[in-house]
Amino acid sequence: MRDSFLVFAQPLIEQPEMDEVLDSMKKSWLGTGPKVHQFEKDFAAYKHVPHAVALNSCTAALHLACKVLNLGPGDEVITTAMTFCSSVNSIIFTGARPVLADIDPVTLQINPEAVEAAVTPRTKAILVVHYAGRPCCMDAIESIAQKYGLRIIEDCAHAIETEYRGRQAGTIGDIGCFSFYATKNIVTGEGGMAISKDPDLMRRIQTMALHGLSADAWSRFSDSGYKHYQVVELGYKYNMMDIQAAIGLHQLPRIDTYWKRRKHIWAKYMEAFRDLPITLPASIPDDIRHAYHLFTIGINRERCGISRDEALMELHRRNIGSGVHYLAIPEHPYYQKTFGWKPEDTPYATAYGRETLSLPLSPKLTEQDTDDVIAAVRDMLSL
Ligand SMILES: *Cc1c(COP(=O)(O)O)cnc(C)c1O
Repeated sequence: MRDSFLVFAQPLIEQPEMDEVLDSMKKSWLGTGPKVHQFEKDFAAYKHVPHAVALNSCTAALHLACKVLNLGPGDEVITTAMTFCSSVNSIIFTGARPVLADIDPVTLQINPEAVEAAVTPRTKAILVVHYAGRPCCMDAIESIAQKYGLRIIEDCAHAIETEYRGRQAGTIGDIGCFSFYATKNIVTGEGGMAISKDPDLMRRIQTMALHGLSADAWSRFSDSGYKHYQVVELGYKYNMMDIQAAIGLHQLPRIDTYWKRRKHIWAKYMEAFRDLPITLPASIPDDIRHAYHLFTIGINRERCGISRDEALMELHRRNIGSGVHYLAIPEHPYYQKTFGWKPEDTPYATAYGRETLSLPLSPKLTEQDTDDVIAAVRDMLSL
C-alpha cells in the first residue's frame, strides 16, 4: 500500500506560472489588466472565436449567459439531472425555473428525447453539460432548439478540449461557459470564461461582469488618462484578476500535453479494469473528441460485493483520494423543497449518482501513482 495520501485531482503547476504570478506582484497590478486581456485573446484563439470574456468562475459565466439571453421569471430552462449544482443554480438566480431531463445511461449525457418531452410553451433555453468531457448529442439538441425556438447554453466545465463532429464544445450553442477551478483540465485557482460568436452577447457579458459599467477598470485607470464610467445596467462583480490569468496564460499552451497525459491514464485504467465487475466509461466513437476530465466507475453492490460508499472508504483506507460526480440533482434537499423534485423522477441519473465514483485523472500523476490506484481498486474488490 502507498505510504502517502494521493490527493484527488491535483493540478500540475509549473515554474512559468509561478514566475508570472510573481511578475503581477512586482508590478503591483493584481486586478483585471493586461494578463487577463492576453488570456482572453489566447483562449479565443484556441476556440477559434473572435472574443472571450474572462470571469471569476464558470458559475459566473453560466449566470451571465442566462442573464444576457434574457431568461427570467416565467421562463423554463431544461437541463440535466446529472451535473454540479452550479448549472442549475445559475438558472435559478435569474428567476427562471429549471426543468430536469434524465440522462442516457450509457453516454451519461442529457437524453434528447427527455429534453423534447420536457418542452412547454414557457421553455426558453436548454442548458447542456458535456459531462465528464464527453460531448452531448448536439445534433439532436440543436434540432429540438430549432423546432421550438430555444437558445442553447453549453456548460463546458469538463469540456475545454471536447469536440463534437468537428465542432468545438462551447461554439455550438449560443454561449459556452468554461471553468478553471483548481480541479479542472487547466486551472487558474478560481476562474471561468464565456465565449459566443455573437458580439452583442459578448459585449453584454463584458459589461455585466463588472457592475454594468460602460468601461472596465483597466481602461479607466491606465495611462491613457482618466475616463468617467457610467452604470448602464445592473451588473455583478464577476471579473477575473491578473493573478489568476497569470496562471492560465501558461496552462493553456500545455492543454494538449495534459490532455495526452490523461488520455494515457484513461487507457491504462480501461485495460487494467477490463476483467473487474465494475462499470467502466462507455467506448468513445470516432466522431467526438473526449476531454477525459473524469474517469468514473460504477460500483453496484450486487455485482461488486461492496457499495459505492464503502468503496470510497476502502480507497481512502488505501491512501487513494476519489470523488463523487455527482449525486443527482433531485437528491438535494433544497431542490426537493423548492421544486418538489424526487430522485425517482430521473431514475438513470439517480441510479448512476448512487453507484459512481471518480478515480484520480490528473497530469500530475506518475506511473507509480496510477499503478497504486489500480492496485487499490483491484485489492478492494477482492475483499
Ligand atoms: C466545476 C463545475 C461548474 C462550476 O465551475 P466554477 O468555476 O467552480 O464556478 C459548473 N458546472 C460543472 C459541470 C462543473 O463541474
